[in-house]
Amino acid sequence: MKRRLFLKTTAASFGLATVGMASAQPDRDKYRPGGPKLGSSKSINLNAFHTNEELTKELETIDRKSDRVSLEEIGRSAGRNDPIWEVQVGNGDTKVHLITQIHGDEAIGTEVALKVIKSLGMSNSRQANHILDNLSFTIIPRVNPDGAMYHYDFDGDGDAEWVGRRQNTQSWAEGESEYRPYYYSTSPGGDPGYDMNRDFNIRPPSEFNPRTDDKEEWWSDEQYLDMPYEGYTLFGSGLRLAPEVRAVTESFIDADPDYAITHHHKGGNLYPDTGDENKPAKQTLMSVMAAYGEDYLERSPFYPATHEPVTEAVNPFLDYETSTRSIKLNSLVIDALAQRGNSIFDSITRYGYYPLWGSYLDSLSPNIANDGDSVAGMLYEVAYQTDDLGQKGLGRQMELTKVGFLESFDALADDPELADYSVETYFDTPLYGEGIQSR
Ligand SMILES: [Zn+2]
Repeated sequence: MKRRLFLKTTAASFGLATVGMASAQPDRDKYRPGGPKLGSSKSINLNAFHTNEELTKELETIDRKSDRVSLEEIGRSAGRNDPIWEVQVGNGDTKVHLITQIHGDEAIGTEVALKVIKSLGMSNSRQANHILDNLSFTIIPRVNPDGAMYHYDFDGDGDAEWVGRRQNTQSWAEGESEYRPYYYSTSPGGDPGYDMNRDFNIRPPSEFNPRTDDKEEWWSDEQYLDMPYEGYTLFGSGLRLAPEVRAVTESFIDADPDYAITHHHKGGNLYPDTGDENKPAKQTLMSVMAAYGEDYLERSPFYPATHEPVTEAVNPFLDYETSTRSIKLNSLVIDALAQRGNSIFDSITRYGYYPLWGSYLDSLSPNIANDGDSVAGMLYEVAYQTDDLGQKGLGRQMELTKVGFLESFDALADDPELADYSVETYFDTPLYGEGIQSR
């Protein structure tokens, strides 16, 4: 079996997310979320963000003050045993599942989610009521409390600094799975943990436990679970080793959503050079990505260049209707933000999509929930911090991101089928990384 190059490269670069190593990566990786970030962790002041304790307090306060919000602890983190919270708000027929901060060093989504929860839970605005009448949200702010609070001696001064990390804190023990999976790491501070956005599995827990039901012959290089599924091979499937991932999976199945949204960070990057001298290069502060199936194979930036199998280019378990809604959801966000006419948001880019078979979006959107309907999904990434975006700029960007989210939800509440939106808006949006020589 021919293993795809990108997966190996992803593993090799794993844990080095804060330092540039773009040169070692194949071209396609620069279009993908989760690549190397610009700037070092050191430049980030995490004191602007909620600790786990503060997050808990804030959510409990909102829950107490609002009769629309219900708050539930759905699990505990592997290392710190800190709570994982799920918030439900809204009474509409269209169900949205939203997760943030599955990568612990990507805190902005959680801060924005908190603002959104507060607005929806406590505001009596026309917009909030319209959204809540038409949409029901299940929100997991901060999937990764371990990574969010991660401290280590970054600068070697003898004291551990609060820098956060991508992984949770969890060790792998012999026998827990046939082999230790590729997404296990001890970076950066020496503590073990998993990249939880590689730990999901497409099969439902009620039918299949990948930790114990895996077969020796599915493994390659003693680290990749290349799981057969419905006639395909899903390279690098996850093992559901993390309790956080099991909690998110259960939450997703219970919610049985129509839309799934996941929020990440990226490094600042230049807006692609359009060749238009009237449109100067600038930072792109938000990128989006839709998950879609074989009906859009021809639109994949990696096909036919990467050739077979199709599971390397598209998610074959997403039907035409779902794929189209996924893409239109991204178009909606692009439109909603671009119409604001704010310079921060008129530079949206999109990622070149290909599936990661251990990710939240690709493993869960085929919908392992009972009814079998697949789920339209999107991923946001916002820029974290760049040289010209200081602490003040960061706060402003979070506020604007909140407004953008609410406007997008407002539009989704208007028409859950998204009839007015065009898939071409999405495909006309420049690819992240296009025209960029190096980073
Ligand atoms: Zn991420």
